[in-house]
Amino acid sequence: MSLSIAMDGPVGAGKSSIADAVAKRLGILHLDTGAMYRAVGVMALREKIAEDEQEVSRKVQDWKVDVRYVTGDDGEGRQHTFICGEDVTAYLREEATGKAASKVATYPAVRRAMVETQQRLAAEQDMLLDGRDIGTRVLPSATVKIYLTASDEVRARRRLLQLQEQNPGENVCFETVLEDLRKRDEPDMNRETDPLRQAEDAILVDSSFLTFDETVETILRHVSEKRAQA
Ligand code: C5P
Repeated sequence: MSLSIAMDGPVGAGKSSIADAVAKRLGILHLDTGAMYRAVGVMALREKIAEDEQEVSRKVQDWKVDVRYVTGDDGEGRQHTFICGEDVTAYLREEATGKAASKVATYPAVRRAMVETQQRLAAEQDMLLDGRDIGTRVLPSATVKIYLTASDEVRARRRLLQLQEQNPGENVCFETVLEDLRKRDEPDMNRETDPLRQAEDAILVDSSFLTFDETVETILRHVSEKRAQA
């Protein structure tokens, strides 16, 4: 029987790295759907049209977004994200890209194009998809749905640590990080098309008081329980 796992949750809940670890343990691919919206963000920024819904909606029809899994030196397969045939993985984590991605992700035409590609990919193989609308829109019949979250403060503290590691010596303020995080959640939770919601049949995993490994184990336990019931 095929296996599909939907993992949704707000910014900074650790979805991407947790999803990577869970998928690896299960021997399936992990599709980071945020990377696809970020790829559209990269193109929209280059063309200076990120704020122009009409233009982005027209052009996204021709901006083919695709993913490939490339094996790194450590033997691990990593997702590379392509738009119009160009590998844009290196630009995806830039601050401006994240902001543009949040904006273009509110455009229904962009969502339609991304959802279609995600559904096609998930139909071809066993996969874990992480994002905002996977359990509610992309894979309504997923084998297992997880809603991964943590308190705003915990998510902000984790993000702050990450930023301090990336830019040692730079003074980053907790309050600013907390505010940024809430600002990024806001359009995802309140947009009209497929807002971030916990699907009715999703299992809530609150990682506020769990370590990384405990979160992975908790999710794996839910997956094996669901598979046993299926
Ligand atoms: O998860 P990540 O932060 O990389 O996603 C970038 C942006 O793409 C998010 O801020 C969100 O607005 C959007 N997104 C979305 N639906 C998804 C995945 C991401 O709207 N399934």
